[in-house]
Amino acid sequence: MIIRTLTLYDRFKCAGSACKDTCCVHDKLVLDNKTYFEYQRVISKGDAFGRRMVASISERNGVASFRMRENGECPFLLRNRLCELQIRLGADKIAETCRKYPTFSKEYGNYREIGCRFSCPEVLRLVLTHPERFEVRERENDTEPVSLDDLNVNLFEALYPVRQRVLQIAQDSRNPLYLTGTILLRLASGVQAAIDRKAYGELASLVAPFEGDDPTGGMAGVATDETADAALREELILRLLKMHCKLEFRKEDNAVRIARAFEIFKGETSEKRIAREREFNSFMKEREYEYRKWLFYVLHRDLLDAVRDGKFFSRMRYAVLTTFCLFELGALEWQSRGKFPPQRQEDLFRNYARELDENPKNLARFMKKLNGSAFALPKLLRAFACPPKKETPEPAPAVE
Ligand code: SF4
Repeated sequence: MIIRTLTLYDRFKCAGSACKDTCCVHDKLVLDNKTYFEYQRVISKGDAFGRRMVASISERNGVASFRMRENGECPFLLRNRLCELQIRLGADKIAETCRKYPTFSKEYGNYREIGCRFSCPEVLRLVLTHPERFEVRERENDTEPVSLDDLNVNLFEALYPVRQRVLQIAQDSRNPLYLTGTILLRLASGVQAAIDRKAYGELASLVAPFEGDDPTGGMAGVATDETADAALREELILRLLKMHCKLEFRKEDNAVRIARAFEIFKGETSEKRIAREREFNSFMKEREYEYRKWLFYVLHRDLLDAVRDGKFFSRMRYAVLTTFCLFELGALEWQSRGKFPPQRQEDLFRNYARELDENPKNLARFMKKLNGSAFALPKLLRAFACPPKKETPEPAPAVE
Protein backbone atom coordinates (compact mmCIF):
# COMPACT_ATOMS: atom_id res chain seq x y z
CA MET A 1 0.00 0.00 0.00
CA ILE A 2 1.24 3.51 -0.81
CA ILE A 3 0.97 5.87 2.13
CA ARG A 4 0.96 9.61 1.58
CA THR A 5 1.33 12.08 4.43
CA LEU A 6 2.14 15.75 4.69
CA THR A 7 5.73 16.16 5.91
CA LEU A 8 4.87 19.04 8.24
CA TYR A 9 2.82 16.72 10.42
CA ASP A 10 5.97 14.73 11.29
CA ARG A 11 6.66 17.54 13.74
CA PHE A 12 3.34 17.23 15.55
CA LYS A 13 3.45 16.63 19.28
CA CYS A 14 0.36 16.66 21.46
CA ALA A 15 0.51 19.44 24.06
CA GLY A 16 -1.08 17.13 26.66
CA SER A 17 -2.03 18.93 29.85
CA ALA A 18 -0.79 22.24 28.37
CA CYS A 19 -3.33 22.08 25.56
CA LYS A 20 -5.41 25.27 25.35
CA ASP A 21 -8.48 23.53 23.96
CA THR A 22 -8.39 19.83 24.65
CA CYS A 23 -9.91 17.33 22.26
CA CYS A 24 -11.36 15.42 25.24
CA VAL A 25 -14.67 17.24 24.76
CA HIS A 26 -17.30 15.60 22.58
CA ASP A 27 -21.03 15.36 22.08
CA LYS A 28 -20.54 11.63 22.12
CA LEU A 29 -17.55 9.31 22.27
CA VAL A 30 -18.28 5.88 20.86
CA LEU A 31 -16.07 3.03 22.05
CA ASP A 32 -14.73 0.67 19.42
CA ASN A 33 -15.25 -3.04 20.12
CA LYS A 34 -11.63 -3.79 20.95
CA THR A 35 -11.42 -1.01 23.54
CA TYR A 36 -14.79 -1.88 25.05
CA PHE A 37 -13.67 -5.48 25.40
CA GLU A 38 -10.57 -4.29 27.33
CA TYR A 39 -12.73 -2.12 29.57
CA GLN A 40 -14.99 -5.06 30.39
CA ARG A 41 -11.94 -6.87 31.70
CA VAL A 42 -11.19 -3.90 33.96
CA ILE A 43 -14.84 -3.75 35.04
CA SER A 44 -14.87 -7.43 35.88
CA LYS A 45 -12.28 -6.82 38.63
CA GLY A 46 -15.08 -5.12 40.56
CA ASP A 47 -12.85 -2.49 42.20
CA ALA A 48 -13.70 1.19 42.67
CA PHE A 49 -12.24 2.20 39.29
CA GLY A 50 -14.20 -0.58 37.59
CA ARG A 51 -17.40 0.68 39.23
CA ARG A 52 -16.68 4.19 38.00
CA MET A 53 -16.18 2.77 34.57
CA VAL A 54 -19.60 1.10 34.68
CA ALA A 55 -21.17 4.42 35.66
CA SER A 56 -19.36 6.21 32.82
CA ILE A 57 -20.34 3.93 29.95
CA SER A 58 -23.74 3.58 28.37
CA GLU A 59 -24.75 0.93 25.89
CA ARG A 60 -27.48 1.29 23.29
CA ASN A 61 -28.27 -1.11 20.47
CA GLY A 62 -24.96 -2.84 21.08
CA VAL A 63 -22.98 0.42 20.77
CA ALA A 64 -21.05 1.52 23.85
CA SER A 65 -20.15 5.13 24.47
CA PHE A 66 -18.91 7.30 27.31
CA ARG A 67 -21.42 9.37 29.25
CA MET A 68 -19.85 12.78 28.82
CA ARG A 69 -19.98 15.37 31.60
CA GLU A 70 -22.54 18.12 31.26
CA ASN A 71 -19.95 20.42 29.71
CA GLY A 72 -19.07 17.74 27.16
CA GLU A 73 -15.80 16.71 28.82
CA CYS A 74 -14.79 13.07 28.93
CA PRO A 75 -15.53 11.53 32.36
CA PHE A 76 -11.88 10.45 32.56
CA LEU A 77 -10.37 13.87 31.90
CA LEU A 78 -8.46 14.77 35.08
CA ARG A 79 -8.24 18.23 36.58
CA ASN A 80 -4.68 18.53 35.33
CA ARG A 81 -6.12 17.91 31.81
CA LEU A 82 -4.50 14.50 31.49
CA CYS A 83 -6.31 11.30 30.58
CA GLU A 84 -6.94 9.01 33.56
CA LEU A 85 -7.42 5.96 31.30
CA GLN A 86 -4.09 6.52 29.62
CA ILE A 87 -2.36 6.89 32.97
CA ARG A 88 -4.02 3.85 34.58
CA LEU A 89 -4.28 1.47 31.63
CA GLY A 90 -1.71 2.69 29.08
CA ALA A 91 -1.80 4.70 25.86
CA ASP A 92 -2.84 1.65 23.83
CA LYS A 93 -6.01 1.18 25.92
CA ILE A 94 -7.75 4.39 25.07
CA ALA A 95 -10.55 4.50 22.50
CA GLU A 96 -9.52 4.36 18.86
CA THR A 97 -11.00 7.83 18.27
CA CYS A 98 -8.72 9.28 20.97
CA ARG A 99 -5.70 7.24 19.91
CA LYS A 100 -5.89 8.44 16.33
CA TYR A 101 -6.81 12.06 16.91
CA PRO A 102 -5.79 14.49 15.43
CA THR A 103 -4.85 12.36 12.43
CA PHE A 104 -7.33 11.17 9.86
CA SER A 105 -6.67 8.62 7.21
CA LYS A 106 -8.58 7.75 4.08
CA GLU A 107 -8.09 4.74 1.87
CA TYR A 108 -8.61 4.48 -1.86
CA GLY A 109 -7.63 1.01 -2.99
CA ASN A 110 -3.83 0.90 -2.88
CA TYR A 111 -3.51 4.45 -1.49
CA ARG A 112 -3.80 5.67 2.06
CA GLU A 113 -3.87 9.43 2.58
CA ILE A 114 -3.05 10.76 6.03
CA GLY A 115 -3.56 14.24 7.39
CA CYS A 116 -4.15 16.10 10.65
CA ARG A 117 -7.24 17.92 11.78
CA PHE A 118 -7.35 21.68 12.13
CA SER A 119 -9.52 21.35 15.23
CA CYS A 120 -6.33 20.62 17.20
CA PRO A 121 -4.54 23.78 18.37
CA GLU A 122 -1.10 22.19 18.09
CA VAL A 123 -1.70 21.16 14.48
CA LEU A 124 -2.80 24.69 13.68
CA ARG A 125 0.13 26.22 15.52
CA LEU A 126 2.45 24.14 13.36
CA VAL A 127 0.61 24.95 10.15
CA LEU A 128 0.32 28.69 10.75
CA THR A 129 3.94 29.10 11.80
CA HIS A 130 5.20 27.42 8.61
CA PRO A 131 4.34 29.60 5.59
CA GLU A 132 5.97 27.21 3.15
CA ARG A 133 3.76 24.98 1.01
CA PHE A 134 2.61 21.63 2.26
CA GLU A 135 4.83 18.85 0.94
CA VAL A 136 3.70 15.27 0.51
CA ARG A 137 5.86 12.32 1.59
CA GLU A 138 5.23 8.92 0.10
CA ARG A 139 6.21 5.51 1.41
CA GLU A 140 5.14 2.01 0.72
CA ASN A 141 4.38 -0.81 3.11
CA ASP A 142 3.20 -4.35 2.60
CA THR A 143 -0.34 -3.83 3.95
CA GLU A 144 -2.88 -5.46 1.68
CA PRO A 145 -4.90 -2.83 -0.18
CA VAL A 146 -8.50 -2.48 0.90
CA SER A 147 -11.18 -3.58 -1.51
CA LEU A 148 -11.84 -1.34 -4.49
CA ASP A 149 -15.50 -2.29 -4.48
CA ASP A 150 -16.69 0.97 -2.99
CA LEU A 151 -15.04 3.23 -5.52
CA ASN A 152 -15.07 3.80 -9.22
CA VAL A 153 -11.55 2.72 -10.26
CA ASN A 154 -11.60 4.41 -13.68
CA LEU A 155 -12.70 7.64 -12.09
CA PHE A 156 -10.07 7.33 -9.35
CA GLU A 157 -7.25 6.90 -11.85
CA ALA A 158 -8.37 9.93 -13.83
CA LEU A 159 -9.26 12.08 -10.82
CA TYR A 160 -6.16 11.54 -8.71
CA PRO A 161 -3.87 13.69 -10.95
CA VAL A 162 -6.62 16.33 -11.14
CA ARG A 163 -6.78 16.51 -7.38
CA GLN A 164 -2.98 16.80 -7.18
CA ARG A 165 -3.08 19.70 -9.64
CA VAL A 166 -5.88 21.35 -7.69
CA LEU A 167 -3.72 21.21 -4.54
CA GLN A 168 -0.91 22.96 -6.42
CA ILE A 169 -3.26 25.67 -7.68
CA ALA A 170 -4.58 26.19 -4.15
CA GLN A 171 -1.03 26.84 -2.91
CA ASP A 172 0.06 29.02 -5.83
CA SER A 173 0.32 32.52 -4.42
CA ARG A 174 0.92 34.08 -7.85
CA ASN A 175 -2.86 34.36 -8.07
CA PRO A 176 -4.63 36.48 -5.44
CA LEU A 177 -6.71 34.40 -3.05
CA TYR A 178 -10.10 35.29 -4.50
CA LEU A 179 -8.87 34.58 -8.00
CA THR A 180 -7.55 31.20 -6.86
CA GLY A 181 -11.00 30.42 -5.47
CA THR A 182 -12.86 31.39 -8.62
CA ILE A 183 -10.39 29.53 -10.88
CA LEU A 184 -10.88 26.42 -8.77
CA LEU A 185 -14.67 26.76 -8.92
CA ARG A 186 -14.63 27.10 -12.67
CA LEU A 187 -12.22 24.19 -13.07
CA ALA A 188 -14.35 22.06 -10.73
CA SER A 189 -17.44 22.80 -12.75
CA GLY A 190 -15.72 21.42 -15.89
CA VAL A 191 -14.51 18.38 -13.94
CA GLN A 192 -18.01 17.80 -12.61
CA ALA A 193 -19.51 17.95 -16.09
CA ALA A 194 -16.98 15.35 -17.32
CA ILE A 195 -17.71 13.12 -14.32
CA ASP A 196 -21.44 13.38 -14.95
CA ARG A 197 -20.93 12.30 -18.56
CA LYS A 198 -18.53 9.56 -17.42
CA ALA A 199 -16.02 11.17 -19.81
CA TYR A 200 -13.12 10.47 -17.45
CA GLY A 201 -10.64 10.64 -20.33
CA GLU A 202 -11.32 14.40 -20.59
CA LEU A 203 -10.17 15.19 -17.08
CA ALA A 204 -6.45 15.39 -17.93
CA SER A 205 -7.10 18.01 -20.61
CA LEU A 206 -8.94 20.21 -18.11
CA VAL A 207 -5.89 20.60 -15.88
CA ALA A 208 -3.29 20.56 -18.69
CA PRO A 209 -3.38 24.39 -19.10
CA PHE A 210 -2.01 24.71 -15.56
CA GLU A 211 1.19 22.89 -16.52
CA GLY A 212 2.56 26.01 -18.26
CA ASP A 213 3.78 29.29 -16.79
CA ASP A 214 0.36 30.92 -16.59
CA PRO A 215 -0.85 30.38 -13.00
CA THR A 216 -4.43 31.04 -14.09
CA GLY A 217 -4.32 28.20 -16.63
CA GLY A 218 -5.67 30.63 -19.22
CA MET A 219 -8.56 31.56 -16.97
CA ALA A 220 -7.41 35.12 -16.32
CA GLY A 221 -10.71 36.10 -17.87
CA VAL A 222 -12.49 35.13 -14.69
CA ALA A 223 -10.99 38.21 -13.13
CA THR A 224 -11.36 40.65 -15.96
CA ASP A 225 -14.19 39.83 -18.29
CA GLU A 226 -16.71 39.22 -15.56
CA THR A 227 -16.97 42.25 -13.41
CA ALA A 228 -17.48 41.38 -9.78
CA ASP A 229 -20.97 42.22 -8.66
CA ALA A 230 -20.49 43.89 -5.28
CA ALA A 231 -24.17 43.71 -4.35
CA LEU A 232 -24.36 40.03 -5.15
CA ARG A 233 -21.15 39.36 -3.25
CA GLU A 234 -22.62 41.10 -0.22
CA GLU A 235 -25.86 39.17 -0.54
CA LEU A 236 -24.02 35.85 -0.71
CA ILE A 237 -21.73 36.58 2.21
CA LEU A 238 -24.70 37.69 4.28
CA ARG A 239 -26.51 34.51 3.32
CA LEU A 240 -23.48 32.44 4.30
CA LEU A 241 -23.19 34.20 7.65
CA LYS A 242 -26.89 33.63 8.27
CA MET A 243 -26.37 29.92 7.55
CA HIS A 244 -23.58 29.94 10.13
CA CYS A 245 -25.92 31.56 12.68
CA LYS A 246 -28.28 28.60 12.36
CA LEU A 247 -25.67 25.99 13.28
CA GLU A 248 -25.86 24.20 16.61
CA PHE A 249 -22.88 25.62 18.44
CA ARG A 250 -20.96 23.68 21.07
CA LYS A 251 -19.54 26.86 22.54
CA GLU A 252 -21.73 29.83 23.31
CA ASP A 253 -18.82 32.20 22.53
CA ASN A 254 -18.75 30.99 18.96
CA ALA A 255 -22.50 31.48 18.53
CA VAL A 256 -22.17 35.03 19.85
CA ARG A 257 -19.20 35.79 17.60
CA ILE A 258 -21.00 34.63 14.47
CA ALA A 259 -24.23 36.42 15.37
CA ARG A 260 -22.25 39.60 15.92
CA ALA A 261 -20.46 39.25 12.60
CA PHE A 262 -23.80 38.81 10.88
CA GLU A 263 -25.26 41.91 12.53
CA ILE A 264 -22.24 44.07 11.66
CA PHE A 265 -22.28 42.88 8.07
CA LYS A 266 -26.00 43.43 7.76
CA GLY A 267 -25.92 46.90 9.21
CA GLU A 268 -23.01 48.45 7.32
CA THR A 269 -22.77 50.09 3.95
CA SER A 270 -21.23 48.40 0.92
CA GLU A 271 -18.53 51.08 0.82
CA LYS A 272 -17.44 50.25 4.34
CA ARG A 273 -17.41 46.53 3.63
CA ILE A 274 -15.43 46.93 0.41
CA ALA A 275 -12.92 49.25 2.10
CA ARG A 276 -12.47 46.74 4.93
CA GLU A 277 -11.88 43.88 2.50
CA ARG A 278 -9.26 45.88 0.63
CA GLU A 279 -7.49 47.04 3.74
CA PHE A 280 -7.56 43.64 5.38
CA ASN A 281 -6.28 42.12 2.16
CA SER A 282 -3.35 44.48 2.34
CA PHE A 283 -2.83 43.85 6.06
CA MET A 284 -2.75 40.09 5.45
CA LYS A 285 -0.49 40.29 2.40
CA GLU A 286 2.38 38.43 4.09
CA ARG A 287 -0.04 36.04 5.77
CA GLU A 288 -2.29 35.20 2.85
CA TYR A 289 -0.81 31.70 3.00
CA GLU A 290 -2.94 31.10 6.12
CA TYR A 291 -6.09 31.01 3.96
CA ARG A 292 -4.37 28.82 1.40
CA LYS A 293 -3.58 26.39 4.21
CA TRP A 294 -7.27 26.13 5.05
CA LEU A 295 -8.20 25.73 1.40
CA PHE A 296 -5.56 23.05 0.92
CA TYR A 297 -6.58 21.28 4.14
CA VAL A 298 -10.22 20.89 3.13
CA LEU A 299 -9.40 19.93 -0.46
CA HIS A 300 -6.71 17.45 0.55
CA ARG A 301 -9.06 15.80 3.00
CA ASP A 302 -12.31 15.76 1.03
CA LEU A 303 -11.94 16.21 -2.70
CA LEU A 304 -10.92 12.67 -3.57
CA ASP A 305 -14.04 11.28 -1.90
CA ALA A 306 -15.75 12.26 -5.15
CA VAL A 307 -14.56 8.88 -6.44
CA ARG A 308 -17.23 7.37 -4.22
CA ASP A 309 -20.16 9.68 -4.80
CA GLY A 310 -19.20 11.75 -7.86
CA LYS A 311 -19.70 15.06 -5.96
CA PHE A 312 -16.61 16.99 -6.99
CA PHE A 313 -18.03 20.47 -7.48
CA SER A 314 -19.93 20.60 -4.18
CA ARG A 315 -16.75 19.67 -2.28
CA MET A 316 -14.83 22.37 -4.10
CA ARG A 317 -17.55 24.93 -3.42
CA TYR A 318 -17.49 24.11 0.28
CA ALA A 319 -13.69 24.46 0.43
CA VAL A 320 -13.66 27.78 -1.45
CA LEU A 321 -16.63 29.36 0.32
CA THR A 322 -15.44 28.41 3.80
CA THR A 323 -12.07 29.97 2.91
CA PHE A 324 -13.83 33.18 1.83
CA CYS A 325 -15.96 33.13 4.99
CA LEU A 326 -12.88 32.80 7.18
CA PHE A 327 -11.38 35.76 5.34
CA GLU A 328 -14.51 37.85 5.98
CA LEU A 329 -14.66 36.79 9.65
CA GLY A 330 -10.99 37.62 10.07
CA ALA A 331 -11.53 41.03 8.45
CA LEU A 332 -14.39 41.80 10.84
CA GLU A 333 -12.31 40.77 13.82
CA TRP A 334 -9.36 42.87 12.64
CA GLN A 335 -11.68 45.85 12.21
CA SER A 336 -13.25 45.58 15.65
CA ARG A 337 -10.09 44.74 17.63
CA GLY A 338 -7.62 46.80 15.64
CA LYS A 339 -5.34 43.76 15.34
CA PHE A 340 -5.40 40.21 14.12
CA PRO A 341 -2.41 38.26 15.37
CA PRO A 342 -1.76 34.67 14.22
CA GLN A 343 -3.15 33.37 17.55
CA ARG A 344 -6.55 34.88 16.69
CA GLN A 345 -6.42 33.19 13.31
CA GLU A 346 -5.64 29.92 15.06
CA ASP A 347 -8.68 30.42 17.32
CA LEU A 348 -10.87 31.26 14.36
CA PHE A 349 -9.80 28.26 12.28
CA ARG A 350 -10.00 25.86 15.23
CA ASN A 351 -13.45 26.92 16.32
CA TYR A 352 -14.65 26.91 12.74
CA ALA A 353 -13.30 23.37 12.31
CA ARG A 354 -14.96 22.18 15.50
CA GLU A 355 -18.32 23.85 15.04
CA LEU A 356 -18.86 23.24 11.35
CA ASP A 357 -16.24 21.21 9.60
CA GLU A 358 -16.13 18.32 12.10
CA ASN A 359 -19.70 18.46 13.30
CA PRO A 360 -21.55 16.03 10.98
CA LYS A 361 -24.99 17.46 11.74
CA ASN A 362 -23.97 21.05 11.08
CA LEU A 363 -21.94 20.07 8.05
CA ALA A 364 -24.81 18.14 6.46
CA ARG A 365 -27.18 21.07 7.01
CA PHE A 366 -24.66 23.56 5.60
CA MET A 367 -23.87 21.46 2.53
CA LYS A 368 -27.56 21.10 1.77
CA LYS A 369 -27.98 24.86 1.79
CA LEU A 370 -24.94 25.31 -0.46
CA ASN A 371 -26.65 23.12 -3.03
CA GLY A 372 -29.36 25.74 -3.41
CA SER A 373 -29.58 27.92 -6.52
CA ALA A 374 -28.19 30.89 -4.56
CA PHE A 375 -24.74 29.29 -4.77
CA ALA A 376 -24.80 28.15 -8.39
CA LEU A 377 -21.55 28.69 -10.31
CA PRO A 378 -22.59 31.71 -12.45
CA LYS A 379 -23.59 33.58 -9.29
CA LEU A 380 -20.38 32.68 -7.49
CA LEU A 381 -18.26 33.84 -10.40
CA ARG A 382 -20.18 37.08 -10.66
CA ALA A 383 -19.93 37.71 -6.96
CA PHE A 384 -16.33 36.72 -6.31
CA ALA A 385 -14.61 37.06 -9.69
CA CYS A 386 -12.57 40.12 -8.81
CA PRO A 387 -10.15 40.16 -5.93
CA PRO A 388 -10.02 43.43 -3.97
CA LYS A 389 -8.29 45.67 -6.50
CA LYS A 390 -6.43 48.41 -4.72
CA GLU A 391 -4.14 48.02 -1.80
CA THR A 392 -4.16 50.68 0.85
CA PRO A 393 -0.52 51.34 1.83
CA GLU A 394 -0.91 51.73 5.58
CA PRO A 395 -4.22 50.36 6.78
CA ALA A 396 -5.44 51.84 10.03
CA PRO A 397 -8.31 49.81 11.40
CA ALA A 398 -10.80 51.58 13.57
CA VAL A 399 -10.77 50.35 17.16
CA GLU A 400 -14.24 50.08 18.64
S1 SF4 B 1 -6.38 18.95 20.90
FE1 SF4 B 1 -4.39 18.29 20.02
S2 SF4 B 1 -2.83 19.12 21.40
FE2 SF4 B 1 -4.82 19.22 22.47
S3 SF4 B 1 -4.91 17.35 23.70
FE3 SF4 B 1 -5.95 16.89 21.74
S4 SF4 B 1 -4.32 16.08 20.37
FE4 SF4 B 1 -3.29 17.04 22.13
